This record gives sequence, C-alpha cells and structure tokens, in this order.
Amino acid sequence: MRIALFGDIHANLEALEAVLQDAAEQGCTDHVCMGDIVGYNADPAACLERVRASDWPVVKGNHDEDASGEHSLESMNPVAAAALEWTRDQLSLEQRDWLRTIRMVRQVEDFTVVHSTLDQPQSWNYVTNKFDAMSNFSYQFTNLCFHGHTHVPRIFVRDSRVSEVEAESIVIEPGMKYFVNTGSVGQPRDGDWRACYVIYDLPTSTVSFRRVEYDIATTQQKIRDAGLPEVLAERIAEGR
Ligand code: ZN
Repeated sequence: MRIALFGDIHANLEALEAVLQDAAEQGCTDHVCMGDIVGYNADPAACLERVRASDWPVVKGNHDEDASGEHSLESMNPVAAAALEWTRDQLSLEQRDWLRTIRMVRQVEDFTVVHSTLDQPQSWNYVTNKFDAMSNFSYQFTNLCFHGHTHVPRIFVRDSRVSEVEAESIVIEPGMKYFVNTGSVGQPRDGDWRACYVIYDLPTSTVSFRRVEYDIATTQQKIRDAGLPEVLAERIAEGR
C-alpha cells in the first residue's frame, strides 16, 4: 500500500490536480488530506468538492475553520483575511457547514494526522524547530504523525532526544517517533514553488517527499481575475 499525504492546498486547483496525477503515477492508491483546503488562492469550491467527493480522510486546518465561520478576521494578517472574506463569499452555506464538521485529529492505518500539533490542535501553533516538536511528541501515541500548517516540509525524530532530519526520504524505525510536515500543495514557503506532498510506502516503511510542477500561470491568472491581493499571485511563484 502506498498512501499520498498532502495538505495546505489553499484553493490551488492546478497544484492539487498535478499532485493527484503524480501520486497516481507513483502507484498511490490511498490519500490523506492534512487540511487547509481553502484560503489564499482562487478555487476554494472546486478544491473542496474534489476532496469531499473523494471521501479521503481529512483533518481541519485554520483556514477551513475561518472560512466556515462568521467571526471577525481582524486579528489576522490583512492579506489572509481579505482572501478568507472572499472565500466565504465563494462557498455555499452547505459547503461551509461541511468545513465546520471536519475533525481536528484522525488516526489512519498506523499513523496520526493533525493540521498543526497534537498538544493543542485548536491553538494552531506552528512547529518550526525541535523545541516546538517536543510538545507535540508528548501527545503522539503512534510512531508516525503527519502534519502541515507551516507550508515547509520537515522531519522531526524522537529517540532519546528530539532532532530535525534533513532528508528527501526516511525509513521509519520501530521504537522511534516521527513527526513529518508534508509541506504545502498550493502555497509552498520553503523557496521552491513546486507543489509538495509525501508518499508513505507501508511495505518498506518509507516516507518520501515529492515535488511536482504545475500550471502556475493559470493559478496566478485566476487570482488576478478574482481580484484577490496581487501579492498572492507573486508569492506562489517565489515559494514563500
Ligand atoms: Zn495553510
């Protein structure tokens, strides 16, 4: 069994379709979504319907929560808030209700999935270093947990201590714990514009990152046509 794990799609349909095609070519039969289906880019409804129709296991991201509610977005950064206001208008009440019902944490096969961290999933804390990862590991009861939220692919490992491992693939060893950020499909922030996702190959216990080119010009044109902030079109080309 080979599972494709991907999240932070952020309404980028071209990136999502490219990831799904690559995953199929790589022999993935199962899919898991790390959340943040919507927000920032111009195809929230289409991405939501693609995820929902496929019935993949999915966990809720902060943008999914913010798009589903009516609460004020004033405390958010202005660009993200503008995109979320626009996103709320693009989704039907029924689609927003569906976003609201998504669970915060799931267990799939032998691993756990969460958008941010397991210690306080509803606080949407960012894991950017091993100290942040330590808090998560205290609440991680499976060897392997996948997450997203920072849009930066990362691997944290705990044996006698916690460390960050820089690798494009890693073999999951028994007795160790792994907290793997699958990166972002629709708005990578590690300086590489290509869509990012992970393949977990169960027979070999191997987790591998994949980077996939997509039709970014179309995505940028849709952002501009929608009247979304120009910086959103620029940042996806820069991977930041
Ligand atoms: Zn996100």
